Amino acid sequence: MSLPIHPMYINGSWRPAGAGGLADDINPATGEAFARIAQASPQDVEDAIGAAHAAFGPWQKLLAGEREALLLRTADIIAAQADRIRDLIIEENGSVFMKAPWEVGYAIDCLRVAAGCVRRPHGETFPASAPGQVGMTIRQPLGVIGGIAPFNSPFLLAMKKVAFALAAGNTFVLKPSELTPLSGLKIAEVFDAAGLPPGVLNVIPGPAAVVGDRLLADPRVKMITFTGSSKVGRHLAAEAGRHMKRVTLEMGGKNPLVVLADADIGYAVDAAAFGIFFHQGQVCMASSRIIVEAPVYAAFLERFVAKARTITVGDPRDPATVIGPLIRPSQCGFIADQIADAVAKGATVCCGGTHAGPYFTPTVLAGVTDRMAVYGEESFGPVTSVLKADDYEHALFLSNDTRAGLSSAVVTNDLQKAMDFALRSESGMVHINDTTISDEPHIAFGGVKDSGFGREGGMASIAEMTEVKWITFQMGKRDFPF
Ligand code: NAD
Repeated sequence: MSLPIHPMYINGSWRPAGAGGLADDINPATGEAFARIAQASPQDVEDAIGAAHAAFGPWQKLLAGEREALLLRTADIIAAQADRIRDLIIEENGSVFMKAPWEVGYAIDCLRVAAGCVRRPHGETFPASAPGQVGMTIRQPLGVIGGIAPFNSPFLLAMKKVAFALAAGNTFVLKPSELTPLSGLKIAEVFDAAGLPPGVLNVIPGPAAVVGDRLLADPRVKMITFTGSSKVGRHLAAEAGRHMKRVTLEMGGKNPLVVLADADIGYAVDAAAFGIFFHQGQVCMASSRIIVEAPVYAAFLERFVAKARTITVGDPRDPATVIGPLIRPSQCGFIADQIADAVAKGATVCCGGTHAGPYFTPTVLAGVTDRMAVYGEESFGPVTSVLKADDYEHALFLSNDTRAGLSSAVVTNDLQKAMDFALRSESGMVHINDTTISDEPHIAFGGVKDSGFGREGGMASIAEMTEVKWITFQMGKRDFPF
């Protein structure tokens, strides 16, 4: 059976594959290709950037109300085909049934929040030192923004970049993950249906080396907004520095969920299980380190392992499934190596630790130390370590003992310790009496340390994606010293 072929989207038109050829889009649950995707050639990248550059002038001049209406129309178009987009995300990403509709709903919210931001980029006025001078700052869009998106929530995370960039008056070139290109092309499709002018958004799937490097090097691209691994982000930061390009980096995590001695253990177990097993652990905010104060360590571990054993693994289309396939079988190999390293150095596998094809069983490790790779390295799978802390200060030390700094959580009813933890936790986001996974389209999302810099969401995105300009206006003539 021949597979459907999907073109890329440049300057408001669907362009078939040229010199870049086609690549398979693979369903992680079956390991089989279900579509073929046009891959951008160097010329396609050039054309996409050129189109975005040409579209910038008219787009930034469009009245705020028109940009707002377009974003809201796009949200409605997604809502009308939510089930189809959900099914695409399941097929392309291996997303389980409970996660895919959430992702679609988030993208709709994101567009509505972005529409609400269109009229809000504002500046300030200043008293001036020169008599008769009025001073002010305004915010202006940057121009062309290049977006590089990951595979794990492919529709949501790319939409979060596109929606706020367009709201601020920028134009956009999106490079979706090569593992999930159709979710990125779907964004072009819904904006196209809403009547987006040609060139304002361009979506060009293709190899990182062809697309990514050109986006970074081209002086017409004023900013790169990246979400992905710390390894790639570090490379992009270096390249962005070389090209003096603005960059925001939303990168990986090794997120601690801390359970203090006074916690409700049943609640903490539920928070931890959701935190690590949602979307089979392929979440940047996953609770991949669970730190438990000694008095409740044994009780927590026993109940957590018991819960992990009940978690269903299987077909992502089945609404009862909690854990679907990892994106590629090679990811299972990577995690299996991490576990083997930990076991060789003295860790215990309390449950799981095995996989069949791309399906990794929920895995809980105990006895993990800082000599083991899994202590500090992101697994990006349903694997977590439960670490014992001697007391609160030790728990805080362990939670900060990582190069990452994305999200953290603490479960306790001790108000003083909860707030102390929030203030001293080295992470961009802290959740008290909750899991580490939390994301809202209107709130500044982002990390510190190796988890990156820059914030995404609501007015935080608008601030990143605009330039502040200081303007003075001299009323009448001023005196100059000579
Ligand atoms: P990845 O870093 O492998 O790829 C991300 C994107 O970067 C892809 O589009 C890829 O093609 C592109 N890329 C790779 N090499 C490149 C290069 N040299 N130049 C330009 N682009 C390049 O990440 P992934 O495996 O797709 O996603 C998982 C990672 O993303 C995890 O580490 C996860 O924690 C992180 N993530 C972070 C957040 C966040 O908001 N902080 C959200 C989701 C995922």
